[in-house]
Amino acid sequence: MREFVHESPPLRVVLRAGASVTAVPGEAERLGLRRLLVVSGPRGAHTARAVADSLGDACAGLHTEARMHVPVEVAERAVDVARAAGADGCVAVGGGSAIGLGKAIALRTGLPLIAVPSTYSGSEMTPVWGLTEHGAKRTGRDPSVLPRSVVYDPELTLSLPLSLTVTSGINAVAHAAEALYAPDTTPLVSLTAAEGARAMTRALPDLAADPRDVDARGRALYGAWLCGTALGATTMGLHHKLCHVLGGTFGLPHAQTHTVVLPYALAHNAPAAPEALAALGAALDADDAPYALWELSGRLGAPRSLAELGLKETDLAVAAAQAAGQAYPNPREVTEEGVLAVLRAAYAGDRPSPT
Ligand code: NAD
Repeated sequence: MREFVHESPPLRVVLRAGASVTAVPGEAERLGLRRLLVVSGPRGAHTARAVADSLGDACAGLHTEARMHVPVEVAERAVDVARAAGADGCVAVGGGSAIGLGKAIALRTGLPLIAVPSTYSGSEMTPVWGLTEHGAKRTGRDPSVLPRSVVYDPELTLSLPLSLTVTSGINAVAHAAEALYAPDTTPLVSLTAAEGARAMTRALPDLAADPRDVDARGRALYGAWLCGTALGATTMGLHHKLCHVLGGTFGLPHAQTHTVVLPYALAHNAPAAPEALAALGAALDADDAPYALWELSGRLGAPRSLAELGLKETDLAVAAAQAAGQAYPNPREVTEEGVLAVLRAAYAGDRPSPT
């Protein structure tokens, strides 16, 4: 018998082509919200304006200053804008950075959040917030930052460049993979994670063949939803910690870093998590899940090595010490030598093998 504690957060999800403009007003109404501040990054401003327009009189303003990793000053300015506008809720339109800003507003003000994701990062499904101050990113869990409603619109992701489509998709698969061996996983989370990984890895080759395939875009968002759900329900291990260090300390790009590191982190953990790796392999229809992910992302044109992402070889030991110097659950004991071996392999980008 597998013992567990499972909690399902109260969160409504809509997935429909065109939903960013057709469903958001209804979601706001269901929540009783009449003055919503719409937030996005500068590059998502056009889409955010369409969402704002769809809200009509229920839009209290549009703020398009979200930035990667939510700098504290950016969050403070957005909170001021929300207060000055008399907002009673917030709609975040965009990738993990825009949703991160919406979460920061929710954290400071308690305003309810509606998320309209345009990447596969999965942030919309988690109660985890992040804020960056003096170059250091702090994260925490708080139920108030979990969106009340998430609106997935495949049409919104048609503009996602293929390179980011692939790396953001593998970022989602990373959530599923680590959820499968997380100490707080449950039978329902395992099923969710496996199905999320399956849906995403099936959708990505279809999107590489035709990035404007709305059906495949919808299947990728469905996968992102499930992988994000698994992320929100569990505690992540070595792979996520390592990517956090590489992004936070060395400024490497989020989704690309996840894509490069995942096969090597999984190959390292595989001997200590045979069931999880078998479940992931079954989802990917492969005997060797780390190799299958390495092969898939490389075939679809994603970067394969940390060297390609601009990391210096001399940074590896610093990153290993940082990632090994924190406490977090991982199926295999985390040692500095072990993490350095993973990093060396990811730096070179060769076919993953156990380290
Ligand atoms: P992002 O939001 O920074 O977006 C990456 C780039 O893609 C940006 O330039 C953006 O303008 C562009 N973009 C986004 N959607 C687009 C679209 N549909 N078409 C064209 N361009 C588009 O990147 P991300 O990978 O979505 O999110 C990364 C951030 O989210 C990181 O800060 C990460 O820490 C955070 N995150 C948080 C959680 C959580 O649970 N709190 C989970 C995952 C990621």
